[in-house]
Amino acid sequence: MTTPERPLDLAKLSPADRKKLFRALPKTDLHCHLDGSLRVSTVAELAQDPKLRERAHALGYTLPEDASEKTLERVLRPGVDCKSLVEYLLPFDIICGVLQTPGTLERAAYELAVDAAAENVWYLEVRFAPQRHINDDLDGLGVLQAVDRGLARAEKEHGGRLRTGIIVCAMRHYDERIGYYHRRVRESYRYSSARELASHCSLEVARLAAEARKRGLLRVVAFDLAGPEETGEGYGPASIKQAVTHLNAHRIGHGTRVLEDKKPDLLEFLRDHRVAIEVCLTSNVQTKAVRSLAEHPFRRLLDEEVRAPLCTDNRLVSGITLSDEYALAYEQFKLTPKELRRVVLYGFKAAFVSYQERRRLLLAAKAKLRELGLGGTWSRDEEDALASLTGGR
Ligand SMILES: [Zn+2]
Repeated sequence: MTTPERPLDLAKLSPADRKKLFRALPKTDLHCHLDGSLRVSTVAELAQDPKLRERAHALGYTLPEDASEKTLERVLRPGVDCKSLVEYLLPFDIICGVLQTPGTLERAAYELAVDAAAENVWYLEVRFAPQRHINDDLDGLGVLQAVDRGLARAEKEHGGRLRTGIIVCAMRHYDERIGYYHRRVRESYRYSSARELASHCSLEVARLAAEARKRGLLRVVAFDLAGPEETGEGYGPASIKQAVTHLNAHRIGHGTRVLEDKKPDLLEFLRDHRVAIEVCLTSNVQTKAVRSLAEHPFRRLLDEEVRAPLCTDNRLVSGITLSDEYALAYEQFKLTPKELRRVVLYGFKAAFVSYQERRRLLLAAKAKLRELGLGGTWSRDEEDALASLTGGR
């Protein structure tokens, strides 16, 4: 019989020790955009490559004259000065401009997974819109295969300590400026409305995701409807309600306005159906999805026991890591050890993996949390799961 250990007093830890703790937490990042999460140094290197520049320009993307790391550091991080979601999305043009080859896509995915694993993300779901990377030499499947290769390589290097998935994004809006693929679509369908083209392009991506699974790309685990303004971020509880009832969405990205619903039904539905709201604190403030961190619904979501895992959204564009987001959540919302534990576990519970795999990850995460002093009681199942993940350490 082992007695439960006394939980950690977070407030008594020094800031440096707290930082270490947030980094050591076993984590999931369920909402992380590939094209918003590259290393600045990599974007600079790629944007200075004459061949890649030429290709980007030929496909209609504009790369800045000065693509030094110093300049890009500023350009790619609109940060708190960002005026709106639209402005926040600008850096993606530069990044998508350089991600037009299998090699660059593979590298971007690999580096993102390695960076996440370095801060103890055990499970990462990378999302992106394949159509933004399609060109005459690279089709949708090729795009997904390249990203899959990068993730597979990172997983292999980390043994059982890293699992990854791919979320295929469709854009709810159509705009020729999105990129090469969208311009080509417009050339072929001159008399179709933007709305019609948006529906058609989305349907195409959904079919691409299904085809990828059929061909054995098992990392493709989900399909996401993304895009500015018409998502829950810019729209409101009505769109969230539609997504979970009409479209059977299992998770909602951002969903910062979920609490604006006057009736309790939506919250009740989310709890009942274990729908997770992916919380991206820094990004939500930067895109003005919330007026300030203090007004972020995260605290109330926790109190209401809605699954609310912390995620990064865009590591590069927001200039953050997931450990930073845990630190921020702790500072702003005064998380207790119990709540911290709950937030971590929400992520594993909401992961798009098989039941067996989710169980293994959850048990191992519980053992690790206990080891870190964040509650729970000793259990052989949990210890065994942790040992299998970390190679019997
Ligand atoms: Zn997002």
